[in-house]
Amino acid sequence: MTQHLPNDPAYLRALDVAHHLPAQSSYGLQVELGGSRIITQAQGSTIVDAEGNRILDGMAGLWCVNVGYGRRELADAAQKQMLELPFYNTFFKTATPPPILLATRLAELLGGELQHVFFNNSGSESNDTVFRLARTYWALKGQPQRQIFISRTNAYHGSTVASASLGGMSFMHDQGGLIAGVEHVMQPYQFAEGFGEDEETFAQRAADAIEQRILAVGPENVAAFIGEPVQGAGGVILPPKTYWPKVEAICRKYGILLVADEVICGFGRLGAWFGHQLYGFTPDIVSMAKGLSSGYLPISATAVSREIVQTLRDSGEEFCHGFTYSGHPTSAAVALANLDIITREGLVERTAQDTGPALAKALQEALGDHPLVGEIRSLGLIAAVEIVSQKGTNQRFGGGTGMAGGKAGPVVRDFAIAGGLMVRAVRDTIVMSPPLVITHEEIATLAQTLKSALDQALPLLRADYPA
Ligand code: PMP
Repeated sequence: MTQHLPNDPAYLRALDVAHHLPAQSSYGLQVELGGSRIITQAQGSTIVDAEGNRILDGMAGLWCVNVGYGRRELADAAQKQMLELPFYNTFFKTATPPPILLATRLAELLGGELQHVFFNNSGSESNDTVFRLARTYWALKGQPQRQIFISRTNAYHGSTVASASLGGMSFMHDQGGLIAGVEHVMQPYQFAEGFGEDEETFAQRAADAIEQRILAVGPENVAAFIGEPVQGAGGVILPPKTYWPKVEAICRKYGILLVADEVICGFGRLGAWFGHQLYGFTPDIVSMAKGLSSGYLPISATAVSREIVQTLRDSGEEFCHGFTYSGHPTSAAVALANLDIITREGLVERTAQDTGPALAKALQEALGDHPLVGEIRSLGLIAAVEIVSQKGTNQRFGGGTGMAGGKAGPVVRDFAIAGGLMVRAVRDTIVMSPPLVITHEEIATLAQTLKSALDQALPLLRADYPA
């Protein structure tokens, strides 16, 4: 064993195939490719693979490394807490300082009625917490029949059975099942579902779909509506401006809890601390993860309104929910240090005023006229490029429109990665969410690398899918 260097890529890839099952992966493909790409180091916005290739991380890990890689301050915070008290639980009428201080900090950032925070380890667990909490709340309010959650098709809320049920990815429901009582309605994805339609007409149609479903199942049976302010994993879907205020009005009309899943949108990604603040609506529950610790350690948080907390308090009952690592002191200490960095370096403001607009401009200049590009959209430092077979339409290579496709995205993505840019393909949409510390020079590189990937893909796609 010692004869192999630990970072020897061939050795690691062989062990990867022999023993490791990566997340959300085809294990047949893992074998076919001879193992995973091994990432060994990172600094700033750049990751380095085991072969020494430097790759600009257009995905901030997995939408999470907001403050960038290589932050000694976060390692120091973890070390200090680990030496002082690496772990203690919050089950035994006990708590430790970091989660108390982090909850206080989040309450300040969220403001209003969102003054209490429950901790978990992942975005999925946060949404599992939402599931149990919302149903428990209604039972305690004497309305136990309020069991139904309204969500959207192509939403992503996690991978546990409850959070995947809340999500609208049918291929996930096919593996392990869909919990009864989740209703999926039309998503506000105008490029796919309302191409060429007037934006306001489309916004109204998407909001009406929610109200109609509420009426169909009976408003008295609905517990909550859940949505990502901007759908991330579904393809960076920016809703029309008036969509969220309409959704909020519908929830208020029928007394339904409104849940914002801010797992991607939170902590500066959109150029605001939270997506709901940007879109101007007030949720009753907020799920947070990812940028909360910039991915340095696992932690998620579920913020809850005073009314819900008061109901639980008044009931005198125990909330039978929580994890060994709920409020993990080391993760919470790192999250606190991470929020310090975001605040001190003005990363939220910088995203809104400087790098976000710069990314939009660079993508538009480099790709706007490209024959493969059907739409470029971005908000802060989240962006999407739609690949189409015929410019000016939403036609996909291989046939179909909008949500169809899936042939072109991976081709462009693979050229981008080979060219030194990590991006993700969601069907035929290239999505990006770089670290909030990305520089102007890196933004220019990102746009040029993507252009070059599209240039390389163009003749191959035209040859494989003749018009
Ligand atoms: N909600 C949203 C909006 C997400 O994007 C994700 C992860 N991409 C999750 C929940 C689940 O988070 P995790 O993978 O940490 O469980």
